[in-house]
Amino acid sequence: MRIRIHRGTREIGGTCIELESAGSRILLDLGLPLNATDLASTLLPEVDGLDGGSADLLAIILSHGHRDHWGLVPKASRKIPLVMGKATESIMRAAADFVPDAIALNAARYLEHGKLIQIGPFAIVPRLVDHSGFDAYAIEIEAAGKRLFYSGDLRAHGRKAKMFEALVHTPPRAIDIMLMEGSSLGRLADDESFPTEEALENIFVDRFKDTTGMALVACSAQNIDRVVTVYRAAKRTGRTLVVDAYAAEVLKATGYDNIPKPVAGWSNLAVFIPQRQRLHLKNNGIAPLVDSYREFRLWPEQLAQKASRAVMLFRPWMMRDLDQANALSGAKVFWSQWDGYLRAGSPGAALMADCESRGIPFETIHTSGHAGPGDLRRLAAAVAPKKLIPIHTFERDKFPSLFEKVVLANDGDWVLV
Ligand SMILES: [Zn+2]
Ligand SMILES: [Zn+2]
Repeated sequence: MRIRIHRGTREIGGTCIELESAGSRILLDLGLPLNATDLASTLLPEVDGLDGGSADLLAIILSHGHRDHWGLVPKASRKIPLVMGKATESIMRAAADFVPDAIALNAARYLEHGKLIQIGPFAIVPRLVDHSGFDAYAIEIEAAGKRLFYSGDLRAHGRKAKMFEALVHTPPRAIDIMLMEGSSLGRLADDESFPTEEALENIFVDRFKDTTGMALVACSAQNIDRVVTVYRAAKRTGRTLVVDAYAAEVLKATGYDNIPKPVAGWSNLAVFIPQRQRLHLKNNGIAPLVDSYREFRLWPEQLAQKASRAVMLFRPWMMRDLDQANALSGAKVFWSQWDGYLRAGSPGAALMADCESRGIPFETIHTSGHAGPGDLRRLAAAVAPKKLIPIHTFERDKFPSLFEKVVLANDGDWVLV
């Protein structure tokens, strides 16, 4: 077996790894580069057969639903079978109705935790991992007697922390090459760790208690761990989590019973449909979507009265609806995503300015979706691969001092496993 990383040896974004054995090939991820401005002008990596013209390209396996791992798939031929988690497929389908540039992808086969799938010469065993993206997998692959382990994106401090501990406790054995992500290197000192989702929950509880009006939490609806954190904090403070139709559909699409969603049996949950979304639903002929949660609906005229007992999953453009409903008295905004989105010129910066002009307090409460250096060291030591190749990192030069058996690869170079 041999592999080549097309993108990711020196950057986060555009992850794509090609594996070849016995004349057959598969891809792990086909992501959008971070610096891509639009899909049309972004080139596919130089993988033979992405136009559908090579029968030996057997499948594209997507580790999870983040765009830096699947974003270039729409440019590849639809003839190439896609393999991904079932929840990843359904969340992407739900998001496609609401998010510009989002797309519904159809899986030919599913990744399931611990379940072997054979694709040509490749024996593939996915491991569900803890990550800010839901339904994310690390992937173990054996071909021609050689074994590779790809970490995908993962962490140890989220709501699936047990999955990380299980991975460290019973790691894949006899791994020849491990491709390990290093997103946190350079963002966090080697001896620092990120706060856990549980710690975040407690901070939210304190803040919600201190908020007289509506608590507005700006986080991604697809960061399911965070939505659960916010929901639990809302419930603990006697508040109702208010989500829009997009978040409602994403929560339903997870397919997990223990994820809050607007279906019978869930309390402290309501659905508010902002004006802009109401028009979007109507214009796209998908208004009937929201019929199923009619009893969960919160109407504009109820917002002001419910404000002090509500937490809203919020995006900047919803401010207008809250303003028109006179529901902003005593409100606070909590930014619960990467602070890079607050840089000058970004929508986050505009929100900060909007809050300042309205006298609404603004605070960041967030933790990373990626493992800190200490947890990465535990993982690397547990797997103990013959070679460890850095991927999904801007700081590959930090790897040799942190981990054993590090081998640096270059984008586009074949490496024999
Ligand atoms: Zn990710
Ligand atoms: Zn990623």
